[in-house]
Amino acid sequence: MTTANFSNENNDLIAMPFGELESFMASINEKRFRAGQIFRAIHKQGLLNIDEVTSISLVLRKILQEKTTNLAITIDKVFISTDGTRKYQLKTHDGHIVESVFIPNASSKGRNTICISSQIGCAMGCTFCATAAMKLVRQLEPSEIVSQIYVVINDLKSSAWKNPQIDDSHEESKDARIIHNIVYMGMGEPLHNYENVKRSIELLCDQKGLGYAAKRITVSSCGVVKNIERLGKETDVHIAISLNATKDEVRNKIMPVNKKWDIAALLKACKNFPIKTRRRITFEYVLLKDINDSNEDANKLVELLKSFKCKINLIPFNEHPLSPFKRPVQNRVLEFQNILIKSNLSVFIRSTRGDDVDAACGMLGAKKLEDARENI
Ligand code: SF4
Repeated sequence: MTTANFSNENNDLIAMPFGELESFMASINEKRFRAGQIFRAIHKQGLLNIDEVTSISLVLRKILQEKTTNLAITIDKVFISTDGTRKYQLKTHDGHIVESVFIPNASSKGRNTICISSQIGCAMGCTFCATAAMKLVRQLEPSEIVSQIYVVINDLKSSAWKNPQIDDSHEESKDARIIHNIVYMGMGEPLHNYENVKRSIELLCDQKGLGYAAKRITVSSCGVVKNIERLGKETDVHIAISLNATKDEVRNKIMPVNKKWDIAALLKACKNFPIKTRRRITFEYVLLKDINDSNEDANKLVELLKSFKCKINLIPFNEHPLSPFKRPVQNRVLEFQNILIKSNLSVFIRSTRGDDVDAACGMLGAKKLEDARENI
């Protein structure tokens, strides 16, 4: 991975990669090896309050408190679904709420996934998405992105949560095994916050921290084409494209980003996305009743994607009060899927998890907005 162009003017301690932390220690006349102690404490042990880092002296802790900023996110509330999904309502240092969702046994191999947010709100305006109604409030900093994972791991370790499925068969650290896969699919468009997302990936993959393999990380995008190409060149993570339509006139209406980069431009960027170390590109397709769920759409989707090494996730729309869209009936979903299967595409219907805690993308944001509206 190449070095990120993220500029850390505020000395945000959690956002400093190891090399930067070493230089910072030198700049305050501290021994460079302290950088290792501090980096491991933050990024391996998840100690987000410098006071908890007892491996360094009280004096150094005080200096760090004075000379650095701490933008760690904190847990506001945890909603636990009957299916084990845990939705975290998290608070930023300036009082905003973001969300992360921990999904136990998310994959067929029983591995656990966390879905994290990259922005507060979102500027992309997808008409079926609850987060879009919030508009973009601000970008999340790298430290706010990675600390979503650290606070969730800390919570899982300190709660009664037990995971029978921890997998010992791969190289990541023990804590990285609690959360096996990381997906940037919560609030926001990750590639509209490129530098901060890239820095967060760098921190998560550092072997001195949790040491995630990049292949365990998936970044989702609605189609910010210029940064799809950069992500492919500069990292080894997976990409998931939120496609959701087969014709530009439909996609223009439901995903305004399509007016800037149309389906042809998007698929061209996907074609150029290196997949040597990645098994395949994921295409997400939210099925909206009578909008994009016809047999004609399924056939067109085959035509668009048949030359890709890909998997397709069909997501029957999760109805919410801020949206006029409806979920297609199950038979329609199955017929759509069958057309893709018959053309030898790898296609899955994504089951919704955590429905009873509104764990679908953007639903917490939607609730807040509804509450706010009721209070106006
Ligand atoms: S679907 Fe994703 S990109 Fe589109 S508005 Fe919602 S959060 Fe933003």
